[in-house]
Amino acid sequence: MLDVHVLILGGTGEARALAADLHARPGFSVTSSLAGRVRNPALPVGEVRIGGFGGVDGLVDYLRAAGVDAVVDATHPFAATISRNAAAAARRAGVSLLMLRRPGWTAQAGDDWTRVASIGDAAALVATGPSGTVFLTTGRRDLAAFAGDAAHHYLVRTVEPPDCAVPPRMTLLLDRGPYTVDGEATLLREHAVRVLVTKDSGGPMTTAKLVAARAAGVPIVMVDRPAPPDGAELVEDVDAATAWVLARR
Ligand code: NAP
Repeated sequence: MLDVHVLILGGTGEARALAADLHARPGFSVTSSLAGRVRNPALPVGEVRIGGFGGVDGLVDYLRAAGVDAVVDATHPFAATISRNAAAAARRAGVSLLMLRRPGWTAQAGDDWTRVASIGDAAALVATGPSGTVFLTTGRRDLAAFAGDAAHHYLVRTVEPPDCAVPPRMTLLLDRGPYTVDGEATLLREHAVRVLVTKDSGGPMTTAKLVAARAAGVPIVMVDRPAPPDGAELVEDVDAATAWVLARR
């Protein structure tokens, strides 16, 4: 019996955990795919391919040429384009698709969060807000939305240097974590942060900033996730994704 070929669309810790989990299973061959945005990315175990597919058409061609039987879209909750493309390509190629998307964060007692629907809404909100430093942890590709605001100082933390328009008054920190609550608290204090802007990425990797902001009374502008593609079959954790893959056999 031929192995079931599973394509994991990755770039997240969950995608790496799923690849590691499936790697040891007989009857499955697994390929992980990364966009190639980050230098020296954390690599999953097993077969890895790097770079875009060339839209929906390119992904359909890839699925057919590589003999992919099932796709797990384990990309970041804000990676909306690849998720949309994966849904369309899997449908067209007749390949089953699962979306693995970790749950978003939930505000706790003591939190002062304002939820907004988009990065643009977050930018409009802070640009018209009181003076003081705005801490942006939304990623370099979202910086352009804040570039028109010369009134506020921005503390910006990204993994890779920005390659688009940035706020004119900016202090840039290049860091990929992991972050600690103490470290985040120090950052908030030393830069006199007035408000933190973050995407609702969910997961445990970047919650230290939420805890530190709560303790320091710093409000958060929380950008909501894009909706998953229509009709997507969704699970929220790696174990459920593994079970789904095992059932493809
Ligand atoms: P995106 O806007 O949804 O995708 C843009 C294009 O990048 C896609 O059309 C596709 O190119 C390519 N691409 C994205 N993910 C890919 C993958 N896993 N394998 C092959 N090609 C991929 O994605 P993004 O927001 O730029 O994120 C890029 C990657 O970084 C994602 O894989 C995601 O998991 C990871 N990431 C994103 C964020 C975030 O905040 N957005 C945070 C952490 C990690 P083609 O059209 O040419 O196929």
